[in-house]
Amino acid sequence: MPFSDFIGNPKTVHRLREMLARNRLPHAVVLSGAHGSGKYTLALMLARAMNCLESPVSDGLPDFCGRCSNCTRIAQAQDLDARFTEAVEARENLRETDKKETRIFVQTHPDVLIIPPDPPQLMIKVDQVRHVIDTIYYRPGDAQERVYIFTDSAFMKEAANSLLKVLEEPPEFATIFLLTENPGELLPTIRSRSMTFTLGAVASAEIETLLAQRRPEWKPKDSALVARLSEGAIGRALSFDLETYTAARAHALILLNSALRGSDHSELFKTTETYRPGADGRERVHVLLRTLYSLLEDMLFWQSGSPHLVRNTDIQGELKKMAEATDFAWIQRASEGMGEVERGMRRNLLRSLSLDAFATALEKAP
Ligand SMILES: [Zn+2]
Repeated sequence: MPFSDFIGNPKTVHRLREMLARNRLPHAVVLSGAHGSGKYTLALMLARAMNCLESPVSDGLPDFCGRCSNCTRIAQAQDLDARFTEAVEARENLRETDKKETRIFVQTHPDVLIIPPDPPQLMIKVDQVRHVIDTIYYRPGDAQERVYIFTDSAFMKEAANSLLKVLEEPPEFATIFLLTENPGELLPTIRSRSMTFTLGAVASAEIETLLAQRRPEWKPKDSALVARLSEGAIGRALSFDLETYTAARAHALILLNSALRGSDHSELFKTTETYRPGADGRERVHVLLRTLYSLLEDMLFWQSGSPHLVRNTDIQGELKKMAEATDFAWIQRASEGMGEVERGMRRNLLRSLSLDAFATALEKAP
């Protein structure tokens, strides 16, 4: 049965289904968890369980068939990135005056509305919440329950206040899901009117087993590495781009090693040269910086005597050497330098220049 496809956090899922069975699911549910922990997947599963026309039962609890017209239509929203991109493109094609008034929604079922942060600010805006208010008090047509899924907790102030008004008097037949990586971002008054469920990290051994099934082309050591790097988030593990990561890490190591050795810059310049301004340049630098952070963190784990926490397990030896050649202050300077690169990027500074500056500045360290 479909709920069995949800990986990890069995107790939380069980509790939610139990409440559903007893008709006790609150009208506002905060699903909290890291990026890729399965918040959206779970919210869509619950939306289907509420509205499945077959209403199957598994383990004595409500499940969903995945085949009826409600299940299939709701499931079309599963690829959120794709649906979001379509919605944004559709808005781009509108007349200039209409564009301004149009907000982004994802809707594949008339009674299930998904509210993503609206670009370019990527915040939930008041007009989005107004649309929720305009529809939420109508009884559902094809479904049992109206479902609203806010995919992020970055609300504009006015939007948050409007949402609060709905939460004060929600209709019997509607459920609002608020997904968040950080519940503290939501107004305390919103949180107090909702019930919070947290999706915790899944053990890396469990992720490894899953990857062995889903990514049979990966070697066991690759699966082990991705399981560690995804930090317990199933979605991140399953969509992990190992090739891009490995390429970025090779560059990050060149940068760090060049800073450590300090003499010959030819390899450094050859690498940073490839980070030119352009369409994908920004994204590549972001990946590079994230990778650099993860390497520095691993070096800190070595220095603090916690090598079992190291995530880049396949290059343990190299990390250990680098950790021994540096100290805490050096690593701190390195992360500050990375902040500098990020600020430079915001000012559109030529990326290769700011990366060179980053590595050469670190050489002055003792
Ligand atoms: Zn169904």
